[in-house]
Amino acid sequence: MSSLVIQDLHVSIGDKEIVKGLSLTIRSGEVHAIMGPNGTGKSTLAKVAAGHPDYTVTKGDILLDGASILEKEADERARAGLFLAFQYPSEIPGVSIANFLRAAVQARLPEGEEIDATAYYKRLYAKMDMLKIDRKFTSRAVNEGFSGGEKKRCEILQMAMLEPKFALMDETDSGLDIDALRIVAEGVNALRGPNLGVLLITHYQRLLNYIVPDFVHVMYDGRIVKSGDKSLALELEAKGYDWVKKELALANA
Ligand code: ADP
Ligand code: MG
Repeated sequence: MSSLVIQDLHVSIGDKEIVKGLSLTIRSGEVHAIMGPNGTGKSTLAKVAAGHPDYTVTKGDILLDGASILEKEADERARAGLFLAFQYPSEIPGVSIANFLRAAVQARLPEGEEIDATAYYKRLYAKMDMLKIDRKFTSRAVNEGFSGGEKKRCEILQMAMLEPKFALMDETDSGLDIDALRIVAEGVNALRGPNLGVLLITHYQRLLNYIVPDFVHVMYDGRIVKSGDKSLALELEAKGYDWVKKELALANA
């Protein structure tokens, strides 16, 4: 059983505070969704957790199995079991998906240990079969000329191969057509299990029609202001974010 604990996290970019005291605990096997209006700091949270150098943590901590990850580089965090799916994945021309994944898997092995090619391809093909991905896919260059759906498929395959303890997925509004949405959902549902914790960041409720979360959190102005189960997402869909803002204004009056 693993845990990812975010403790009173404050994050700034330049002198602007974006995340303003956010706390959240995710355990293996749980799927948490964070929803919230645009500009609230959702993507910032995901990037900080992954180790993006532009953001400064001014207070609080992020603990993976009890140990702080804040001093670790992005690649060390990945090796420790964090996976970040990007909202806008980069293209890597000239590098095939098969070679890219192989390098990623190799990077996780202890110093001096070589990947076994036969075993690697066997595992790759097993994961692809599980995710219903065509084998031809692996000879294409990473994300080059990919549709939104293909980028998502590539991301899910990376996640399947790396077997992270926690996956942070920023799946905000833009660029996710219904096809891509379904690919992400099918992938997450296929990989969902007792050894994986998921933090799903989304602006719209519709993704949660396909991936049913165990917990839903509403983020507003850099904090989690409301938590509940999947019914909270439906309530948000029906009432909009203004409802949460009004409740907050009342509470603070
Ligand atoms: P969300 O994902 O909830 O829409 P973001 O985390 O992308 O929100 O952004 C939160 C706030 O931080 C916004 O006001 C945004 O303009 C600001 N912000 C995010 N990244 C940067 C950056 N690299 N430079 C300056 N401001 C940023
Ligand atoms: Mg965002």
